[in-house]
Amino acid sequence: MIKLPKINIAHLPTVVELLPRLSSKLNGPKIFIKRDDQTGLAFGGNKARKLEYLLADAKAHGARTLITTGAIQSNHCRQTAAAAAKFGFKCILVVTGKEPQNISGNLLLDNLFRAEIVWSDLTDRDSMLDFVFKKTWKEGQRPYLIPYGGSNEIGAVSFAAAFEELKSQINQVDNSLIQDPDWIVLATSSGGTQAGLVVGAALTGYKGKILGISVDKKQSELIPEIISLANKIGSVIHLNNQNLEALIEVNDQYLGEGYGIAGKLEIETITTFAQEEGVLLDPVYTGRAAGGMLDLINQGKFDKNETILFWHTGGTPVMFAEPYREILSKYLRTA
Ligand SMILES: *Cc1c(COP(=O)(O)O)cnc(C)c1O
Repeated sequence: MIKLPKINIAHLPTVVELLPRLSSKLNGPKIFIKRDDQTGLAFGGNKARKLEYLLADAKAHGARTLITTGAIQSNHCRQTAAAAAKFGFKCILVVTGKEPQNISGNLLLDNLFRAEIVWSDLTDRDSMLDFVFKKTWKEGQRPYLIPYGGSNEIGAVSFAAAFEELKSQINQVDNSLIQDPDWIVLATSSGGTQAGLVVGAALTGYKGKILGISVDKKQSELIPEIISLANKIGSVIHLNNQNLEALIEVNDQYLGEGYGIAGKLEIETITTFAQEEGVLLDPVYTGRAAGGMLDLINQGKFDKNETILFWHTGGTPVMFAEPYREILSKYLRTA
C-alpha cells in the first residue's frame, strides 16, 4: 500500500460499473467504467486525486497561495481553484490566451471560486507562470507551484494509489468486475494519470494492458514523457527494477483537428454514452478517448471475450461552455 502524505479531498473509492447496453450494442468485449468523474470536488474528475497529494505538500511547505496553469476550459484549474477555496489558500491561475467576452463552463467556476486569473496573452505561458510565481514570492504570499495538469511525481503518484484502489474492488460482492480487466483505456494528455496507473500496475502485478488515447500529443512525444514520469513516481515509492516501459501503450490516431476541437467522433460518442448508459462524457478528453475506444472495438482490436475498463477522468462541465454547448445542441437538433 502506498502511504504518502495526503489530505482527503476526493470521494473514494469511485465506483466501477458495467456498461451492459453499450457492450451488447457493440457486440464486442465487455466494457466497464471507473467513475473518476464522480470524485466529488466541484463536479469531479481526475485532478481531485492528484490534489490530495499536492495540497499536502503545499501545506508541508507552509504555502498560502496555489499557482497553476492550463487552457481556458482547464478542469485542472477548476478543481485546483475549488480545493484552494476549501482549504483556505489563495489561488492564481495562469490561463493561456486572452480574456474572452463571455465566461462559461470551467472559467465561470474558476471565478466563482474567487481564483485570480492571469491571462498569458501573447506571452509564452510558461514564462508568464514563472513571472507570476516570482512576483508572488517577492510579495510574501508564500506561493506553491502546481505544474500543468498536476503532473509531477507528487500529483501523479495518486494514480498508483488509484490502481491499488481498483485492485481492491475486483471480485468484491458489490462489483461485477470479477477479474483484472484485460485492458484499461483512458484519455491521456500530460501523461500523469497514465504514468501513475502504470506504476500501480507494476506494483500490483497487473497482467493486462493500459492504453492511453492521446488528446493532443503524438505518441513519439508522449511516450518518453510518460516513461520519465513513471520512473520518478517509481523512485518515490521505492519500486525498483521494473520495466515500466513495457506497460505503456499510447494511440495518437484520434487527434482530429487538434486539442479541444470537438468533431464528429467526440459529439457522436458523447451522445452514444448518454443515450445507451446515461453516462456523461466531455468534448475534449473523455469524448475523444471513448470515441477512439469504440472505433478500436469496431476495428476488432480487442477480443470478444476480453474485458475493457474505461477510466473516466471527468471534464463534464466543459459541455456547457462555448463552443461545445452550441456544437452539441446543433447536432441534437439535426440528428
Ligand atoms: C487532465 C485531464 C485528463 C488528462 O490527464 P493527464 O494526467 O494530464 O494525462 C483527462 N481527462 C480529463 C477530463 C482531464 O481533465
